[in-house]
Amino acid sequence: MRQDRYRRQILVKEFGKKGQKLLETKHAIVIGSGGLGSNSANLLVRMGIGRIDFIDYDTVDKTNLHRTSVFSEQDIGKSKALILQKKLQLVNKNVQVRGINKKITLKNIEPLIQHADVIIDGTDSIPLRFLINEVAIHHNIPWVYAGVYETVGMVMAILPKKTPCFQCVIQDFLDLRNQETPVLGSLPAIVAAIQCNEAIKILIGRIPSGFIIYDVWNQCFDIMEIKRNPLCPTCGYKKKIHEKNG
Ligand SMILES: [Zn+2]
Repeated sequence: MRQDRYRRQILVKEFGKKGQKLLETKHAIVIGSGGLGSNSANLLVRMGIGRIDFIDYDTVDKTNLHRTSVFSEQDIGKSKALILQKKLQLVNKNVQVRGINKKITLKNIEPLIQHADVIIDGTDSIPLRFLINEVAIHHNIPWVYAGVYETVGMVMAILPKKTPCFQCVIQDFLDLRNQETPVLGSLPAIVAAIQCNEAIKILIGRIPSGFIIYDVWNQCFDIMEIKRNPLCPTCGYKKKIHEKNG
């Protein structure tokens, strides 16, 4: 029996058979399959999401191995997305898994993500997060941002036009694409688990938390309640009036 493998999860009162059945109908898309994306994908496949796509054009590098739990030394040089598909399909044959070895761009993002029930941010690129934010808001798809830096992790679930979007929170950014982000190896697994929990909450109809910050040295979580920016260029409900008056 398919659901028997989730028996211990179904015993969770506020999840139950109903939550499990609902999860099995849902489609998640993971953009970026590094430390965050691969760990989030691993959890979602084990928990029984219906369908999941991983999009990444990068290959596994030896410097990825300290912060991922899915890749191993023999995967070095191979496509992250395709390796993830192969390994996670072996974990749970009931889940439709698909690795897409592509670079996401302004031109191809819409057909790749428009059927998702939730998008999981596994990128390390702020410009790409702005693109995901814009397209997700436009197509009314919830997405879950996650980021790690040194020993601090951040997670924020975005429900289009209901909660603050990425641009409401981050108005400007430094482009750090050519810099390597410092990160403690254990941090992405924790942050990906929080990210996965936020995605599960969205998928079964619970309300996600605010902007979550986790700190390794203090072992503490902070949740910041952030308000939507009415003038936000992406989701602001007053932006048209503002633009007219401006
Ligand atoms: Zn916004």
